[in-house]
Amino acid sequence: MNHRPELSIIIPALNEAKLLPECLRSLEDQDYPGHYEIIVVDNGSTDGTAGIARDFGVRVIPCTEIKSVFFARQVGADAARGDIIVQADADSVYPGGWLNRIASQFASHPEAVALSGRFIYRDGFWWARVEYLLRHHINRMSVALFSRPMVVSGATFAFRRGSFLSLDGYRGLSYSADQYGICARLSKRGKVLYDRDLYCLTSARRVQRPTFILMMEALANFARWGAYLMQSSLSDLRGLTTRTLLYGVARLLRVAVFAPMVLYGYFVPASSTNGKVYHKGETTEKAVALTFDDGPNEPYTSEILDILASFNIKATFFVIGKNVEIYPETGRRILDEGHVIGNHSHTHNADHAITRYGSRDLRRAQQVIYDISGVSPHLYRPPHGRKTPWQLKAVQREGLIAVTWSVSANDQHALALLGKPSPEPFARKIVSKTRPGKIILLHDGYGTAHGCAKSDRSLTVKALPLIIKQLQGKGYRFVTVPDLLDVPAYNGTPFHEPAYGYGRELATESASNPAKLAGI
Ligand SMILES: [Zn+2]
Repeated sequence: MNHRPELSIIIPALNEAKLLPECLRSLEDQDYPGHYEIIVVDNGSTDGTAGIARDFGVRVIPCTEIKSVFFARQVGADAARGDIIVQADADSVYPGGWLNRIASQFASHPEAVALSGRFIYRDGFWWARVEYLLRHHINRMSVALFSRPMVVSGATFAFRRGSFLSLDGYRGLSYSADQYGICARLSKRGKVLYDRDLYCLTSARRVQRPTFILMMEALANFARWGAYLMQSSLSDLRGLTTRTLLYGVARLLRVAVFAPMVLYGYFVPASSTNGKVYHKGETTEKAVALTFDDGPNEPYTSEILDILASFNIKATFFVIGKNVEIYPETGRRILDEGHVIGNHSHTHNADHAITRYGSRDLRRAQQVIYDISGVSPHLYRPPHGRKTPWQLKAVQREGLIAVTWSVSANDQHALALLGKPSPEPFARKIVSKTRPGKIILLHDGYGTAHGCAKSDRSLTVKALPLIIKQLQGKGYRFVTVPDLLDVPAYNGTPFHEPAYGYGRELATESASNPAKLAGI
């Protein structure tokens, strides 16, 4: 019974009698097969916190010298016997596989010194969703740029004891925003992982206070953070060598150049900075491609098909999986009449470019299109033209290419909504921007909306004959996107159902993702 634990969970506690039992119960119920210890560091509680912890049979260490969460964490870490120290908070509840996940992440990443996860507020108040997404996306970006998360949660953070001790632990840290500090220091010893599936449910009591107080606290924290950064960069300067200086300059350059590049690539449809994107054909011939996004959406898609048929023109339709499910006949008609179908996602969620749901959404659309029309598109158009490096990699992995556009008149749609629907200026705008090889963006739908003002595409329907006639008058001919780019329209290998099984994946997803279950 005296063998050493592999992991030590440290919980600093100051008057946590109310929430601690639930926390300890969740930690006792972990499915981790190895040996672990739980240490509660009682930071001077007067409400029986220590007694409750003792009743649970966990180690209790009194710590009354200084009332500080970092001081208490340090006392706990000093007493810990496990090779991996796991930070936990008394006001949080941990899912059954939490500890196992931590252990297996460290086992499969020997180069990692620390592991950060996420916390989700148990009580869903109105801005929790915004805050949660913001935190997650900041971390995703930060991991991509600096190889470590930016917003580290104290409630679910683990590190190797050896690396931590070599940094002199928490010493010098005094406030909670400095999770960032410990993370930054640890990252000098090795990799800091960010695992979105490692999460805990935490109480929102800390943030459920009057906005004014929260803002003052945020300001104070911000000031302390600034002071910390100044201080740490000063001490960095003192120990500077040519090599570290070069390293620092390289890092600054990386931030200065790379971050705007990723943002540019994300927002500018024609940009290939985040991965290869086709937005026009390389030709001097007067050939252009008409593309229609967000359909099928009736009656507009059929009206557009009638117009194209009357001019004997072939176009490319970037359809939304959900819309194909609603209008399967129209989807088949597009193909029957010789037009090309491209994938424009299943749900048309722009946020999918940032999260990993993007590749699932793309696959789901592939499946639906294949089921209904029998083709497996080779072209993918990201919703709103938003792209991230990882999303474009996923597009490539699925055997597709990303296609955006080089001519659009989206603002005319906005004008139409403001009550100035006029096809002439719309057509004029498109025609004036058109040059050989350009890909023209038009819409036959609006996301997954149908039968509302926004999804009313009668302006496009009215402008289309004008656009075609004026461009033909200038000597242009119309080709499909695959013809313009000289790429295949569809993937040769048929789409195999068993390889994907999206429904099953989704079921597992929601089971393992409480945010989804909680509706945030
Ligand atoms: Zn779209």
